[in-house]
Amino acid sequence: MKASRAKVKVMPRQEDEGEIARLMKDVLGKLGEDPGREGLRHTPVRAEKALKFLTSGYQMDVDKVVNGALFTVKYDEMVIVKDIEFFSLCEHHLLPFYGKVDVAYLPRDKVIGLSKIPRIVDMFARRLQLQERLTQQIAQTIQDVIDPLGVGVIAHARHFCMMMRGVEKQHSGAITSAMLGAFRTHKETRDEFLSLVSHGSPLF
Ligand SMILES: [Zn+2]
Repeated sequence: MKASRAKVKVMPRQEDEGEIARLMKDVLGKLGEDPGREGLRHTPVRAEKALKFLTSGYQMDVDKVVNGALFTVKYDEMVIVKDIEFFSLCEHHLLPFYGKVDVAYLPRDKVIGLSKIPRIVDMFARRLQLQERLTQQIAQTIQDVIDPLGVGVIAHARHFCMMMRGVEKQHSGAITSAMLGAFRTHKETRDEFLSLVSHGSPLF
């Protein structure tokens, strides 16, 4: 009994240790840590799982996410989904950035299930990203899927690479926007969107 318990203790957890976990063990060593110490023993496997989840957007595609939730309607007012939380990883430092996205579109003859919009946000947020590209991809995907008269997307985010490194500007945030179709060409449409989503200080 005692012997088998000791054996379990020294057995490396090979069964769920993937290639990333093995590399992560090397990274811990290179950082001057002892990957074998108790608190870090399972860290490489956990880190692999976390990284795979945080980049799981690569395994998703628009068709699966939207899953046919498109409806033909006679509705020509702006549709807005506000304050969609997202968490992403900056592709320059592999550090998190997180925030909120506001999405709006002006239907032509189709709408998309409202719950699908946060899922589109997640699909692109769970990748290595730039906030600018994330914003653009969300807008372009909605444009491609329902061919609306226009799409507007605004993202507010805080970046750990700005907050934790170097200048350590704790309160620095970034705002990006993507305006397509009527949101780009019609000031009234854009202003309506901005007035409906404007929050004084959303996150910061
Ligand atoms: Zn960064």
